[in-house]
Amino acid sequence: MEGVFVQWGPEPDDFGPSSQPVAFLDRDGVLNLGKEGYVNGPDEVELLKGAGLVVGALKEAGYLVCVVTNQSPIQRGLWGPERLGDIHHELQRQLLGEHSKAAIDLFLACPHRFKDGCACRKPSPGMLRLGHQMLREEIPTERQEGPFERRIESPVVDWWGKKPSSPHPLDLMVGDRRSDMGAGWAFGCRLFRVNASIGLTQVQLQWLNDETSGDSFQP
Ligand SMILES: [Mg+2]
Ligand SMILES: [Zn+2]
Repeated sequence: MEGVFVQWGPEPDDFGPSSQPVAFLDRDGVLNLGKEGYVNGPDEVELLKGAGLVVGALKEAGYLVCVVTNQSPIQRGLWGPERLGDIHHELQRQLLGEHSKAAIDLFLACPHRFKDGCACRKPSPGMLRLGHQMLREEIPTERQEGPFERRIESPVVDWWGKKPSSPHPLDLMVGDRRSDMGAGWAFGCRLFRVNASIGLTQVQLQWLNDETSGDSFQP
């Protein structure tokens, strides 16, 4: 795959011009337990306890929720995009098991390796920009079903400049790694770094406070 792996969530909403904030969530170490190596199939998806409750609370608070994950096993040839689709279906099933509103709106995954020099692998903000465009800007006339591929352009990031402004002041990025914080910074998000063994529940009380600007990040 040259582009970003794209998979809509289970709710059949049409997304279009919207002023809702977006919560960009890393996947492994935020929603589900990260593994040594990779999560290689649906049977290896283990929800981090409470993650579904927090996703449900985010949705109830008016956030759109977009998962942004680096998944290089695809470009490494370990397994294909269909497998990733199955993994996300299982993750979604477990999230909804904790909270009936915990529907992810959009799953985005970069299938590349570092050496591929793509525009989507975090800390590049390419997936965040695509998520913003797909959830808040475009008017999808006919929504493409199933996982598909979307080519993107390389966003220009001035890592030595001032932190950019995100399209919405409450946009946030939650991740367990520095690359997540970098991608969120480059898109202007409020940043919340979590411990990979705790995940999303670690920051619940923080993002609920609109005054919280989140963690700092030095590129
Ligand atoms: Mg992670
Ligand atoms: Zn990529």
